[in-house]
Amino acid sequence: MAELRLNEITKEQILIVENRSKRPKDFKTCQEKVNVSFKENCPFCCGNEELTPPEVYRDSENWNVRVVENKFPILNSQGKIKGYHYVLIEGRHHSRNIHEMSKEEFLNVTKAFVKVSEMLYQKDDVEYVQLFKNYKKEAGASLEHPHSQIIAINKMPEKINRTLEKSKKYFEKNSECLLCKTINYEIQHEKRIIHLDNDFIVYSPYASIYPYEIAILPLEHRSSLLNMNDEEIEKLSDIIQETIKSLINNVGDVPYNLYFDFIKEEKEYYHYQVRICPRLSIHAGFEIATGLFTNIVSPETSACILAF
Ligand SMILES: [Zn+2]
Ligand SMILES: [Zn+2]
Repeated sequence: MAELRLNEITKEQILIVENRSKRPKDFKTCQEKVNVSFKENCPFCCGNEELTPPEVYRDSENWNVRVVENKFPILNSQGKIKGYHYVLIEGRHHSRNIHEMSKEEFLNVTKAFVKVSEMLYQKDDVEYVQLFKNYKKEAGASLEHPHSQIIAINKMPEKINRTLEKSKKYFEKNSECLLCKTINYEIQHEKRIIHLDNDFIVYSPYASIYPYEIAILPLEHRSSLLNMNDEEIEKLSDIIQETIKSLINNVGDVPYNLYFDFIKEEKEYYHYQVRICPRLSIHAGFEIATGLFTNIVSPETSACILAF
């Protein structure tokens, strides 16, 4: 039986149609995995540094993480709508992905996320910074070597503007941050919780568009990733990595998009989050025409499977 759920903020409608015949193992990919540390023609491999566009950040002389300009930017410094489009090379090794990295290796990546966001938000022509990762071709990745992207833009995207407005209005009316309230609700009801510790909640959002969609939120109210201390960055890094490991171990080596939803300054009405959206189903004619998204794994089932 189908159930209709509404995302109160975005107004997206989701049809939860739990398909019991499709269990996690059906999603597991059987592709032969390439495991090489170096590929001669890969611009991101260590030793091929001269193949990339100009570098804007490296964490040390013998780098672990480099950030370079995107060869095919969606935005540049010209025109009314402009910005910066960078690629973050997550390591020297050609095929070691987040779930296979050591804690220290992924910590270097998380540190670079924070550092480069701070760098970009210092520029006068930057209104909004988006950090995201497309894992595998099906999720939009065009190169195999582990990497993420950072886009800074001189105009706040309308979807983000609407979310900010709605969060602000909710706060004015209820004297409470909407996501702080959601966190308390999810803790009380338990059924969508994937993981809970002293610092973070990981849960399957009530109106998830994607099967096994995941939200990671700090328990303490926080709007921005900027100006975090080393301990906070380390905790954030660990929880993201543990969550991805749980997804890959329980559902398979599936494609996903990961993104950070945060703003520049601390605001009492805005709560930052990290979202992971596995890409196991394709939105086709019905979704495009009606804006009604079908999700075949209920968030409650998803939480049971992903729990750690
Ligand atoms: Zn490579
Ligand atoms: Zn909050």
